[in-house]
Amino acid sequence: MYQFDSFMSYLERKNPSEPEFIEAASEVVSSVLDWVNDNPYYIKNKILERITEPDRVVSFKVEWEDDEGNINVNRGWRVQFNNALGPYKGGLRFHSSVTEGTLKFLAFEQIFKNSLTGLPMGGGKGGSDFSPKGRSDEEIRRFCNAFMRELYRHIGPDVDVPAGDVGVGKREIGYLFGEYKRLTGRHEGVLTGKGLEYGGSPMRPEATGYGALYFAREMLQDAGMDIKDKRVALSGFGNVAWGAAKKASEMGAKVVTLSGPDGYVLDEDGVSTPEKWAYMLSLRSSNKDVVEPYAKKFGAKFFPGLKPWREKVDIAMPSAIQNELSLEDAKMLEDNGVNAVVEVSNMGLTRDAADYLVSKKVPFAPGKAANAGGVAVSGLEMSQNAGHIYWNDEEIDGKLKGIMKGIHSSCLEFGREEDGYIDYRKGANIAGFIKVADAMCALGY
Ligand code: GLU
Repeated sequence: MYQFDSFMSYLERKNPSEPEFIEAASEVVSSVLDWVNDNPYYIKNKILERITEPDRVVSFKVEWEDDEGNINVNRGWRVQFNNALGPYKGGLRFHSSVTEGTLKFLAFEQIFKNSLTGLPMGGGKGGSDFSPKGRSDEEIRRFCNAFMRELYRHIGPDVDVPAGDVGVGKREIGYLFGEYKRLTGRHEGVLTGKGLEYGGSPMRPEATGYGALYFAREMLQDAGMDIKDKRVALSGFGNVAWGAAKKASEMGAKVVTLSGPDGYVLDEDGVSTPEKWAYMLSLRSSNKDVVEPYAKKFGAKFFPGLKPWREKVDIAMPSAIQNELSLEDAKMLEDNGVNAVVEVSNMGLTRDAADYLVSKKVPFAPGKAANAGGVAVSGLEMSQNAGHIYWNDEEIDGKLKGIMKGIHSSCLEFGREEDGYIDYRKGANIAGFIKVADAMCALGY
């Protein structure tokens, strides 16, 4: 039998100075503990020890030249956490805050997220402490080329398939894929999020945001509400927030906030026009990492240094980075009568914020369920590449809707409590875990 406290002390001893990984692991372990303890087969298979240990972590040096001719040295990583269900799959993050521990937490979350999609993908994540902020396009290209010069030997369409994440979008994937082709001479599905012209999937850029809105709509429906006319707070202003703003508007909801490291924007007219969406994309590619120019351009209010969670909204969707919504923020949202909190960023809520919402019976969806649409369409991109075929927008959108509905049903199956409240966090963790654990047991060691 596993005891929660002793297992977590074991994990902390093995992974010192990796608080985000410990936070993510403790959430999964606490959700699945009873389930595991009821199953002697899992205990005999030492499933918790095995599932919390990455298969391997590759760390490498990235040397590149900036526009002034100076040599810069960054560190790159690829965490290949678990491939029981398929090739390692997960994004690359380029951000100054990235450490090995960050990528371990993200790769760990990715295992269960990918499992929930029902597609054959294992869990991995990679990235670098390189900050794209203030860098020119040429510098980004030189960095991506140098990063791939090392990464290419560790990846492959049936081995490990990276994609984008914070700081890595279509432009970076293009440079990375170009360098992979130059190094190997192979045009194959080794990265997802590629441009449409060279093997990308329709709707991959939109998929994370769209999927999160499909999920949010299911949540509200289950609670007897309609998403139409709801006020939505989004944080971030990048690719994920962009897709979420578009789909929310299409569904008749109103997105009233965006945010950046500099503060947040309150747009009472709604982030609801093609011009505003296009502007979000140009802000992201400007590499300045500030949202204030949006307020200036569209006559919206700007609150420097503050987060959007103090606004009275029906749906809160953190879409920027981990631990961006604190206990204090969760309390404010709840006081203001929020109907649902939907994590679009990975582990967007601190542990105590998520615990608080669950204790108050506020519907709360974890990122591994709500933001799985991105990696799901990545999985569809892999299928298209492997089969040398092409699915159009309608086909992909139909599949994405089906996958998000399926994830929602899995959460209900394992997360519904006696009083009818859905603990989405528990439901997602158990449903994602069972498939991986069973595959690991079946594969032996
Ligand atoms: N970075 C995204 C995520 O967190 C997408 C990963 C992928 O498409 O492989 O799920």
